Amino acid sequence: MKKVIFLLLDGARCDILNTLLTQDELPNLKGLISNGSYVEATSVFPSTTGPAYSPFLIGRFPGHVNLPGIRWFNKSSYSRNKFGYESHRSYVGLESKFFNQDLKKAYKTIFELIPNSVSIFNEMTRGLKAYRDLTKYSKIFYKLSSHFTGSSSIDKAAFNKLEKSLKRNNIFHFCCLYGIDSKSHLVGSDSAEVVKLYKEFDTSLGKLIANLKLNKSYDDTLILISSDHGHSNTSKHFDLVNFIQSKGKSVFHYPMIHQKIYKDFDAAVMVSGNSMAHIYLKNGDSWSHPYVQNDHNNIINGLLLHDAIDIVLSKNLKGGVNIISRNGKAIVKDQESSIYYQPLENDPFNYSLPEGHYTYNDILERTFNTTYPDSLTQILQLFNSNRCGDIVVSASNGWDLRDKFEYPEHKSSHGSLMAQHMKVPLISNRKITSKAIARTVDVFPTILDFLNISAVNKIDGQSLNIY
Ligand SMILES: [Zn+2]
Repeated sequence: MKKVIFLLLDGARCDILNTLLTQDELPNLKGLISNGSYVEATSVFPSTTGPAYSPFLIGRFPGHVNLPGIRWFNKSSYSRNKFGYESHRSYVGLESKFFNQDLKKAYKTIFELIPNSVSIFNEMTRGLKAYRDLTKYSKIFYKLSSHFTGSSSIDKAAFNKLEKSLKRNNIFHFCCLYGIDSKSHLVGSDSAEVVKLYKEFDTSLGKLIANLKLNKSYDDTLILISSDHGHSNTSKHFDLVNFIQSKGKSVFHYPMIHQKIYKDFDAAVMVSGNSMAHIYLKNGDSWSHPYVQNDHNNIINGLLLHDAIDIVLSKNLKGGVNIISRNGKAIVKDQESSIYYQPLENDPFNYSLPEGHYTYNDILERTFNTTYPDSLTQILQLFNSNRCGDIVVSASNGWDLRDKFEYPEHKSSHGSLMAQHMKVPLISNRKITSKAIARTVDVFPTILDFLNISAVNKIDGQSLNIY
């Protein structure tokens, strides 16, 4: 019986994996790759846990399933009823219970398509029967412990659950390993303590492979190992809320959301992964009036004066997105089957792409080895969400966008458009023949293809040819 095991090594960095593989420090992974494959893939914007799971589990970019960040604000819902449950969200905390119902209903999750699925330490579980969510009750305890102390017991618990599940007739196993991400935030993503976790993963992987071989099921099993984002060390914190307040705005933000009981706001700031944030601006006296960039040029120009801000994106009235960095300005527009890119003053990403129409594959290939892989695709998918900010900022290397309310202090962050956050490994025990680069959104159709199951709705990825 064919099986799929998907191991999500949350926050794993390609460069650390590559170094450890070269030094023969990950013998089990190296053995798996020698008969299989290792390609690098791009994740999504924001490159952060939650939104970056939608490619794997729904086959769509997060903006297309209306999940533009781990925190978001909805201007039109807030204008109708600021106490309504659709007006704003943070999946960090109590509101995480809304996670599954916030996803667009039109798209099936992989759990709805593969009934014999199980999930371990994952929140995106729509369509999964309660008893198939193997950590439904224990995940809060393990995740809090991992978040605050960097404990890696969550990964040992995950592998224990997985081993037990493999003894039953389950077909698809989605297993999240949070240890590397949690520890990276606490002590820095290239610290010795984090590197040790890559090696512990390799040991657990070795046991898993040995068991599959012992049970003669290895040859029928597709193992996929990937990540939802990378990491880069952070030493400086820029308080974006303070900055917007300094422009004379009253700012709605987490965790101070109770202030809406007695206060009116004219801006909202929602940070994701700490290196990306949405900024929402009230136009005049109503949240329902459309945003006009010219009214807020002082904010955009002010943001770019600060070293913390790398890229500023802003809705334009003609349906595109204005891109501004210290390198230049450009406009990008979604033209259904193609992307129209128009550099205006130099090129904000230093792509050297002339003005013109590009396919989504062109963009991936032509930008993959730059500082900002696949950014044009990612900007458009994000702004497709009606919960996206009027302005979106991507932080500079070494900086994050939260200070006062971030505990414990983050020593490493993710969420931005930078390659360090956007590039992830995509490893399989089978050969991938179609291409040397991929997107994480290609994983979903690849799994379905392997199991001979059809996707029933539009998806954003393409199946990788595996054999
Ligand atoms: Zn993280």
